[in-house]
Parts: sequence; structure tokens; C-alpha cells
Amino acid sequence: MGVFSIRTTKRTSIVNITANVKEEVKRSGVRSGICIVYVPHTTAAVFINEGADPDVVRDITYMMEKLIPWEDRSYAHSEGNSAAHIRSAIIGNSRVIPVENGELMLGRWESVFLAEFDGPRERKVIVKVIGER
Ligand code: ZN
Repeated sequence: MGVFSIRTTKRTSIVNITANVKEEVKRSGVRSGICIVYVPHTTAAVFINEGADPDVVRDITYMMEKLIPWEDRSYAHSEGNSAAHIRSAIIGNSRVIPVENGELMLGRWESVFLAEFDGPRERKVIVKVIGER
């Protein structure tokens, strides 16, 4: 199993972690199988989407903040970061990517992203690659 850390710089940060994940796949030696990318944090998430145009991530950030506002009188959670928990829960804390010939089977425009909604923080990403060497 591989683990790497990402330091985020803002309250909401979306970081392209594709190169880090690829490195863990290479390190695992698995040629054919699956790669699980998991974040063990309740205000973070992992998703796969377009990495070529940074405006896509910008728009995802914009709409998450619009749909799930930071301030809402009805939030009950005493820590004051309910929006971050909700955004994390909606996106999800893991993704599975097929691995073939030792490579992630990502589409041409796809990248793997770590999202943090209550930064800045240091975040751990766990990568587990299962399959045949
Ligand atoms: Zn909280």
C-alpha cells in the first residue's frame, strides 16, 4: 500500500494528484488489476474529471460553493464546517481505477483530484493497488 501527503493552501483546494497515483501504481508492480484511491478525512474527497482545462475544476469549485454555502443558519454541527463535511460526503472519499499493462486506464482528458473543503491542511492519500504482477 502507498501513502502520500498533500498540503493544501486555501479553504477549498482541488489538487491534481494523477502523477502521485501513477507513481504508486508503478511502485506496486501490478500489471493488471485495480487501483483504489482513498482519503481518510471527513472534509476531503477524491474525484476524477477533466484535467486538461483548469476552468473545469474552477467551475466545479464555484458550483459546490454555490450549492452548499459555507454559512447556513440551520447547520447544527458545532465545529462550524458543515459545508465541508457535506461537500465531502456528496463527492465521496474514494475512487477505483482499472489498471492494465501497469497503467491507469484513465481517459485521455481525465485526471484524479484530491478535494479539500476545510483547509489549509496536510492531507493523506492512500493508494492500494490489487492485481497480478
Ligand atoms: Zn466538523
